[in-house]
Amino acid sequence: MTIKENLKRIHSQIGNTALVAVTKNRTIEEIREAVNDGVKIIAENRVQEAEQKHRQLREFLKGNNVEFHFIGHLQTNKVKKAVEIFDMIQSLDSLKLAKKIEKRARSINKVQRVLVQINIGEEQQKYGVSVERLSDFLKIVSKFTNLKVQGLMCITPYFEDNEKTRPYFKKMKELFNKSKEDYKLSFLSMGMTKDYRVAIQEGSNMVRVGGGIFNRER
Ligand SMILES: *Cc1c(COP(=O)(O)O)cnc(C)c1O
Repeated sequence: MTIKENLKRIHSQIGNTALVAVTKNRTIEEIREAVNDGVKIIAENRVQEAEQKHRQLREFLKGNNVEFHFIGHLQTNKVKKAVEIFDMIQSLDSLKLAKKIEKRARSINKVQRVLVQINIGEEQQKYGVSVERLSDFLKIVSKFTNLKVQGLMCITPYFEDNEKTRPYFKKMKELFNKSKEDYKLSFLSMGMTKDYRVAIQEGSNMVRVGGGIFNRER
């Protein structure tokens, strides 16, 4: 399967859902190909790799109206670079990070769009704001001037069986519905190659797909 064929199949399955092409570990050529085949959002999970690619792709992305998103854990010492290059940071996972982003964004007169990452499985090893703290977290960061929360994102616990993931997507949708009016949230980013169809059934409006687009042996 070519990238083009993969994209055609995925688009026919996801309808209006926003598609984020996850380009970590992919080459510049693969990224160009995906954009030429219609991808409008690409995402990286490591700042250093993203920075190198951004340097090479900057004009191309701009010319094609492609957004550049960050989806990995952002270390505070990488915030400066991240705020310079990303249109959206989907992985805001702590108040400390929010404060750093706010400060950097203000210093360059930017309003940084972000999603709040929720640790929906309450997993020790995963980053994210807990379900319990979300309401207070939103209350605080919504007062920031140079950081704009536009939605929620999650990485669910891993299960071989997608049906076991479904309850986590449902819970995310409930959280999203509870806050969307008060905080004008637009995006619910959930679902990856393995489970984006289940995520969409449960209300996702933004899926992040890597392998499904770029793996050719399918
Ligand atoms: C890698 C990654 C994806 C995409 O995973 P695939 O299984 O390749 O679709 C989505 N979200 C995040 C946060 C990732 O790190």
